[in-house]
Amino acid sequence: MINSSLLISHKVLCGPAFNAPQKLPSCNDKPPSPTGHSAIGVCHPRFSSPDTDIALVSLEGMLFRVRSQTLSTTSALFKTMFSLPQPKSITDEETGGFDNDTQTNSIPTQIIIHESSENLALILPLLTGLPPPKPLHTLSLRSLTNLLLLAEKWDTPGPISYIRNAINGSAGFFNTDPVRMYALARHFGWKEETARAAVGTLSLPIENLEKQWKDVQEGRKDWELLLNLRNRRYELFKVLIESRDRFTAGNNYICVQCGVTKLTTTPWDILKSTMLREMNNRPLGATLLACTQLDGEFAQWPESETCFRARCPKKECGASYYDKSATLKQIKRCVESLPWDIWEGQECEQTDN
Ligand SMILES: [Zn+2]
Repeated sequence: MINSSLLISHKVLCGPAFNAPQKLPSCNDKPPSPTGHSAIGVCHPRFSSPDTDIALVSLEGMLFRVRSQTLSTTSALFKTMFSLPQPKSITDEETGGFDNDTQTNSIPTQIIIHESSENLALILPLLTGLPPPKPLHTLSLRSLTNLLLLAEKWDTPGPISYIRNAINGSAGFFNTDPVRMYALARHFGWKEETARAAVGTLSLPIENLEKQWKDVQEGRKDWELLLNLRNRRYELFKVLIESRDRFTAGNNYICVQCGVTKLTTTPWDILKSTMLREMNNRPLGATLLACTQLDGEFAQWPESETCFRARCPKKECGASYYDKSATLKQIKRCVESLPWDIWEGQECEQTDN
């Protein structure tokens, strides 16, 4: 689960997502607290305009002044909330003289939001047309995920679209954190991002993938989709390297030079087993591809060395059992022809909005 505390239905108006609107002192009515809660009652500098009627209060007690009209037009949650009966306006007298220093009689309705000041400072510009405090593509995946879940909770498609574009533009998360990226894409029903992130997970050894999957705790079906792609690649690779046409000498068990000597099965079979173990563990196949260079790592595997050293024992022949160059090229072709698409053969329920 991405963050269960944030996945609150937008239908819940006054649950953990919001406290009921309250009439409280306006910005700067309270000086910073000497006890260290310096944010309490202080307006965020970018959201301090007196020409506003709402103040969102962060977890830290910081105020973010905005116009209710703006929130209503960009967020379905706020639109619904503001359509409900509001508490009656209060006057200065009703505040008990608490805001003697207030410069305006227009005291904003305060809405306590269970979100950090950092999150509010990032999402409100996306709702109000201001530039974000820092470019979205420079934020961490965790920060972007928090923002996306907040945007989802507020039912505000604009920021979701901006953040999605930023994620696609930076591209790095698909390689550096493919499991979280995959979980996020699945959660939001993003088809293309799901497929991209799924490819990124193929480079992870299965043990690492299982461990990381426990951390994200997404659904069983999402996990099965990932396993299905890995299995399809593994099974097809197995079929391809067993082909008698592709690997004539190895899979026909006869010396192709003299056509007489029956080959012992071990060198090629052992190499095939090693490659299959590797594909099962990391089905991206990048390790095999890198190794198919003539002087690559693959040529240094003990199984590979044994295989390509094997020679026909027939006195007049003595040829190499297996053509190293041709075999490596063929292995490369096998890896490159494996499927990439997680959606292949799947009923796609993605909304991809
Ligand atoms: Zn021979």
